[in-house]
Amino acid sequence: MSTIGSSVCPHDCPSTCALEVEVLDPGGRGRAGRIGAVRGAVANSYTAGVVCAKVARYGERIHHPGRLTRPLLRTGPKGSGQFREIGWDEALDRVAGAFAETTARHGAEAVWPYYYAGTMGLVQRDGINRLRHVLGYSRQKKTICTATAETGWLAGVGRFTGPDPREMACSDLVVMWGGNPVSTQVNAMVHITRARKERGAKLVVVDPYRTPTAAVADLHVAPRPGTDGALACAMMHVAFRDGFTDRDYMARYTDCPERLEAHFAARGPAWASGITGLPEAEIEAFARLYAATPRAYIRLGYGFTRGRNGPVNMHAVTCLPAVTGKWRHEGGGAFWANRSIYHLDKTLIEGLDRLDPATRIMDMSRIGAVLTGDRAELGDGPPVHAMLIQNTNPAVVAPDSNKVRRGFLRDDLFTCVHEQFMTETARLADVVLPATMFLEHDDFYVAGGHSHIQVGRKLVEPPGECRSNHEVFQGLAARLGAEHPGFTMTAMEVVDAALRASGWPGAEEVLAARWIDAQGSFEDSHFLTGFGHAGGRFRFAPDWAALGPSSAGMPGLPDHWAATDERTADRPYRLVAAPARQFLNTTFTEAPGSRRREGRPTVLLHPADASALGVADGGRVRLGNARGECVLHVRVAEGMQPGVVIAESIWPGSDHEGGIGINALTSDQPAAPAGGAVFHDTAVWVRTEAAAGSLPLAAE
Ligand code: SF4
Repeated sequence: MSTIGSSVCPHDCPSTCALEVEVLDPGGRGRAGRIGAVRGAVANSYTAGVVCAKVARYGERIHHPGRLTRPLLRTGPKGSGQFREIGWDEALDRVAGAFAETTARHGAEAVWPYYYAGTMGLVQRDGINRLRHVLGYSRQKKTICTATAETGWLAGVGRFTGPDPREMACSDLVVMWGGNPVSTQVNAMVHITRARKERGAKLVVVDPYRTPTAAVADLHVAPRPGTDGALACAMMHVAFRDGFTDRDYMARYTDCPERLEAHFAARGPAWASGITGLPEAEIEAFARLYAATPRAYIRLGYGFTRGRNGPVNMHAVTCLPAVTGKWRHEGGGAFWANRSIYHLDKTLIEGLDRLDPATRIMDMSRIGAVLTGDRAELGDGPPVHAMLIQNTNPAVVAPDSNKVRRGFLRDDLFTCVHEQFMTETARLADVVLPATMFLEHDDFYVAGGHSHIQVGRKLVEPPGECRSNHEVFQGLAARLGAEHPGFTMTAMEVVDAALRASGWPGAEEVLAARWIDAQGSFEDSHFLTGFGHAGGRFRFAPDWAALGPSSAGMPGLPDHWAATDERTADRPYRLVAAPARQFLNTTFTEAPGSRRREGRPTVLLHPADASALGVADGGRVRLGNARGECVLHVRVAEGMQPGVVIAESIWPGSDHEGGIGINALTSDQPAAPAGGAVFHDTAVWVRTEAAAGSLPLAAE
């Protein structure tokens, strides 16, 4: 016998799918321990009955024999993987003891709780900040994912809303710019496919390589990485030149349209061709298609923003619908993420009433620099001597991972990792705590890629002694004397109170309704009531200095900004470390079905590059730069420019020959002006493994 339970996908994906989960209860013992099929909710107008394959196979992850089920204490050298089981009381006593001792010896800022989006549930993900704020631990600047896109979007638009993504179904042209939804948010394709079938809409994909989404597009535009701003400028040049601009719209809704025509005059397709590597005719054709289609919807991804000039590129692309007035039309405009529509009050969840803004804040993408004692990162504060890590795997996921690993190996650093599997970060810990998965605890969720608020109730018992993040906060708070109402409430009580404080119905009402659609009105979503800046105008001329401290040299109008890690004679390739279809960062790298479908760590090489290197499909190459080296197998692929190499990942380091993963190559240099990881902005050399075989890997 089985029942169907409602839930929500918690993974770091804009789709936040409404799920229907088969709960198996053959013994009729009430709350069961196993799940069967996982499907998308048909009744949810964004999920529309579709989930990605990796979540459809969730049984193999939640019931994986490799789940951590007992607290562990390190017994061998750091990173050796030698642990023994201990009880929860001893584990929490040790963690609390280490935090208390660190605070006594070095001050509270020497403790750095560290987390990210392994779950997007707001109570289980963000509750770590309540512990942080109550106890005065160092703060975390969240830069590893959205920071570059966020800054670029804010520069022009000014707030995190946009045309309803379901409107893609009534567009005549969808431009998927720097995103690959077939692999990373499949539901977007449902709405795009409707537009193509019902309206004959065109799909254009802008991406430096032929992703699975680009492969099904009507047009794939593949610029060199980091040159999207030049492409957007040339498109606006064509719009001005050929009379496709909407001057009434610009006069009413934008800041300085009178400066644009002269600015773009020198930035035509020939200019952009030299920067992007795209044929001039292709830029012309794309520009005219876009300019001439009123219902043109740009769905902005994250990929093209993950470079040193990422915010500038994002801003330039958001200028396209402003120049051409497409925000006016149903099925037109541009969308990146919904965040402002939920107006969440997170005081209870995060203990914001206890936040001291004078407390040190450190950049999570610079964790390697922080842990290896970089004074600029540490500010005036002490080195970090104790960490609690939840919902992320920084030893592999953070940039410059060799440096990150060196930091974690410090003998004077105590690390507790609360995890579902023995990740490479967990292997470096002193204490490992077993964590629940989303079907084993309560939480609530808002979606970045659509507009629904959902509550996910615990549906099955966790294996062994797994505990939720919330339970860990409660256990540590009790031992450390941290007092806050959030520590004495159940997770569902926090869900309920946070929803009500934000002006939404409580948890039971949301559960009964299954979701709340928080999409704003057409006028607000299309910015017809004004953009987010004072005066309500879109900004062609961003105030970069107001957005971050490192704005020197940033362009005053939409432009190409040559600030990337460009190719040199000794590093003649540009690496893009793109997301793999069957993984989500390192989540699902333990799932047999995902591993089988991904195969092995692979780099895509253009046929001309493969030929020049003398390597064929299946051969092995070593990629490297001053930060490290990494070995991958070759797949020769069309659909990108020579000199561009693509590694879909994130495979654990242990899956690479030599044990070093792709982020050994990526830089932790922050993007201007406000920081942000630059994962797709990396110059490397490539050598056939035979030629490079004598070189040591640069891990230690
Ligand atoms: S598409 Fe995204 S939100 Fe939907 S099930 Fe897959 S990972 Fe989860």
